[in-house]
Amino acid sequence: MKKGKRMVKRTKKYFYPAAIFIAATLCTAVPAAGGAGLSENVHHSAGQKAAAALLAEPAAPNGGRGSRVQPAEDSASRSRVAIIIDDFGNGMKGTEEMFALPVKFTVAVMPFLPTSVKDATRAHEQGLDVLVHLPMEPRQGKPEWLGPGAVLTRMSDAEVRKSVEAALDNVPFAIGINNHMGSKVTGDERVMGIILTVCKERGLFFVDSHTNYRSIAGKMAQKMGLPPVENHIFLDDVHTSGHVAKQMRLVQERALDQKYCVTIGHVGIQGKETAAGIRSGIAELKDSVEFVGISELVKDQWKWNSSVTLP
Ligand SMILES: [Zn+2]
Repeated sequence: MKKGKRMVKRTKKYFYPAAIFIAATLCTAVPAAGGAGLSENVHHSAGQKAAAALLAEPAAPNGGRGSRVQPAEDSASRSRVAIIIDDFGNGMKGTEEMFALPVKFTVAVMPFLPTSVKDATRAHEQGLDVLVHLPMEPRQGKPEWLGPGAVLTRMSDAEVRKSVEAALDNVPFAIGINNHMGSKVTGDERVMGIILTVCKERGLFFVDSHTNYRSIAGKMAQKMGLPPVENHIFLDDVHTSGHVAKQMRLVQERALDQKYCVTIGHVGIQGKETAAGIRSGIAELKDSVEFVGISELVKDQWKWNSSVTLP
């Protein structure tokens, strides 16, 4: 992986920016180094495909397999793509470029960072969905990469609950949570149970970023009556706009095959590159798929209505 040389904007007040910057680049990469072979391939693993097939609704007659381009029809019949951009909250590179994208996407904001509240508020004012991008312990990597407010498996039940609630209270307008890193926590039934319970109590849903293909988050969510939402494709595990644009074509295929696709990109050291790739992908895909916020997808795909009332 390329390593960005340009360093972080540091402030005296916050120790975290540098650490988060590293974490952002590792958000997807840590699991890749985890020995389980978790890489781009994993995002299309048989397990995931089976799960996706299980969850996908029957294809509409006009959207069968093999049809790569759908005619522009009413939006109800079009395949949908929900792009989630992770790692907002720390004034990362690419923030402006992402906010300038010409379609709806979802803004995942890390708690307790210098621009957490600002980014969440801005997203909400722009009509975009907000998720809390909750730092969660990975199987590998240093705890300080996680940033403030992280959920760790060594915490007691009460401590996990307190962390999740504090993060939710810190990021305004959030309609759900997705995980920053978290390959260890998303495999831990006790800790995931508490996170999902808090989601349920507050009328929120959990999006599994899928940094661990053995994640139990989706199954547990389903058992608890929450929508089993998960990321299908990481856009920027290679940080070039060309790779991101290529990934956007995979997103299109996936969306046309199963009627919807959830995909994740990042602001961060290479955030501008990612934004450029997404922008060119949008231009390419916009006639065949519809770009929606994650709330719209969750509502239509799983008939799940948030009980959160936003101002
Ligand atoms: Zn992240």
